[in-house]
Amino acid sequence: MKRPIRLAALLLPAMLWHTTVQAADAAVSRLKRQPAVKAALQFLRDDDARTLEEQIAITQIPAPPFKESVRAQDFAERLRAAGLTDVSIDAAGNVIGKRNGVGQGKGESNAPLLVISAHLDTVFAEGSDVTVTQKDGRHFGLGIIDDSRGLVALLSVLRAMEHAKLRTVGDVWFVGTVGEEALGNLRGVKALFAEHPGIDGFISVDGVDTPEQARAGKPGIVTQATGSRRWEATFTGPGGHSFGNFGNPSAVHALGRAVAGIAELRPPADPKTTFNVGVVSGGTGVTAIAAQATLQVDMRSNDADELRALERRVLDIIDHAVEAENARWSSTAVRVERRLVGDRPASTRNTDRSVSDAAVGAYVALGLAKPELDFASTDANVPLGLGIPAATLNGGGIGDKAHSPDEWYEHVNAWQGPQILLLTTLRLAGVAGHSKPALVDR
Ligand SMILES: [Zn+2]
Repeated sequence: MKRPIRLAALLLPAMLWHTTVQAADAAVSRLKRQPAVKAALQFLRDDDARTLEEQIAITQIPAPPFKESVRAQDFAERLRAAGLTDVSIDAAGNVIGKRNGVGQGKGESNAPLLVISAHLDTVFAEGSDVTVTQKDGRHFGLGIIDDSRGLVALLSVLRAMEHAKLRTVGDVWFVGTVGEEALGNLRGVKALFAEHPGIDGFISVDGVDTPEQARAGKPGIVTQATGSRRWEATFTGPGGHSFGNFGNPSAVHALGRAVAGIAELRPPADPKTTFNVGVVSGGTGVTAIAAQATLQVDMRSNDADELRALERRVLDIIDHAVEAENARWSSTAVRVERRLVGDRPASTRNTDRSVSDAAVGAYVALGLAKPELDFASTDANVPLGLGIPAATLNGGGIGDKAHSPDEWYEHVNAWQGPQILLLTTLRLAGVAGHSKPALVDR
């Protein structure tokens, strides 16, 4: 009896999930046939050339890390021009444009709040030349994919909804976030969720398919978050002459003990969990006992619990390294100070796939290949870490070399990005008089 039970236990959830996905696909296909939705999809094709013009214009407004405000003002203006009246910039610098659904305040039992967003910041330093150039059908520009394309996909979808007079059941907020890249540490989206705990679902539009993905007919969307925690540990000690003061504990020796301990860790391969001591520095000369030494360690995981467990072990090893170095010389003089320098939440083991199911359904409804579901680090990390359904979608078109001076974009079948975003949004927020929201008002 054991075997069938085990089989059933394994098969049943898989079968149920399969059924749910098919139901989601069918629901999006039904949506696509609504006259207003058809009109909006057609509008997105007609709006295609304008998105490229807008993408170039936005790329040429510098938005270096921590200095997104000029581009934020511009994006707020564009949201107003596209038809939103409630547009504001929050304390963190995020642009928030609200488009209320019909369910709002009308006692609807399920009127969820969906955020669709793209990030305003780029990785490029202040003073970089942001002029967009063109060669052999490709547009070259700093951030032209990442994330100017995401911003214009949002604007085009908004114009389409206004044009077709599409009313959703739930509210949809159009958001430009700050601080997505590197040391920005997702500060915009973190502030957004701290301020607005009522958000029920989240879509980030970030990135485009590479030429290889396009050729292979294998688009990708991000539905899981690789989390990271990065620490800097600074060891200090009394220092002294290597011969004259032999017997003093050493900051470099303490650091060495820590690195040796970390190097022995064996985190799980699945969910993929990794560590790396990427930088060490310290000491002043070969004849001086080191008074100071610093290491930087990066930890990543596809699972929040594994990331927490690894981090606890690494921090323990660092503390024990200090104790061991002091014990070796019967001292208490070596100390360590730890500083968190990076924090991106990993997915929790949550099972709400409503956003990714809706996105896959949109690809199917548009006759496109089903996307692969990937792990990555994007603005969607924050909701995925909170157990809120989220995904990161492509903006349309193809390109490559994001984060490099050679970043390029080609405007090929680019309307498909906004079309996928529109259908996903409508499926999640519901269309007044036609379909219920797939998103649950939590
Ligand atoms: Zn990006």
